[in-house]
Amino acid sequence: MRLFAALDLPEEMRERLSALQAGLPEGRLTTPENLHLTLAFFGEAGAREAEELHAALGRVKAAPFDLWIDGTGAFGGAKPRLLFAAARPDPALARLHEKVEQAGRQAGFPNPAERYRPHVTLKRLHPGEMSAARAARWLEATGAALIGPARIGEFVLFRSTLGHARPVYEKLARYALLG
Ligand code: ATP
Ligand code: MG
Repeated sequence: MRLFAALDLPEEMRERLSALQAGLPEGRLTTPENLHLTLAFFGEAGAREAEELHAALGRVKAAPFDLWIDGTGAFGGAKPRLLFAAARPDPALARLHEKVEQAGRQAGFPNPAERYRPHVTLKRLHPGEMSAARAARWLEATGAALIGPARIGEFVLFRSTLGHARPVYEKLARYALLG
């Protein structure tokens, strides 16, 4: 199974994030129920590895915090491949990310080399689907979006199934943030 840990966003925030998708081409928009903020991607795991990961995630100690979305961005530069809403930089979110990655390491999942950029994916783009100029116009129109606060009191282990029209995410376990 394919596993990742993420923040499940409150409905009000998901509704406001969906509104940012106005004006984007139709295909591969993240559906409202699928909007999430990934803390760590673990990839393929067997049942035993998943159990170890679950145990390690259960030992994560981190404090609840208020999440804010501040603006939008694109990955892929001149050939944008993904449009997102950005999380406002927050030490509590950064600490939670660190601890979730650390739990993954303890359970045998190597951490990715790339820098963590907390974001909510709004749309994936096929190559050439949107010109850089059109993406720039969307970024300009949505760049001032400020959405929040959303009180975050837990994080979730998700199982992702690809190969359908859109990915299917299932919640396997929830972990409370205390303190
Ligand atoms: P699709 O791959 O079909 O576009 P998806 O990316 O939402 O859908 P997954 O690939 O299973 O589904 O990824 C689940 C979550 O983990 C997503 O938030 C995705 O951005 C994130 N993710 C996937 N691969 C990585 C990776 N190598 N590094 C960091 N995050 C990743
Ligand atoms: Mg993916």
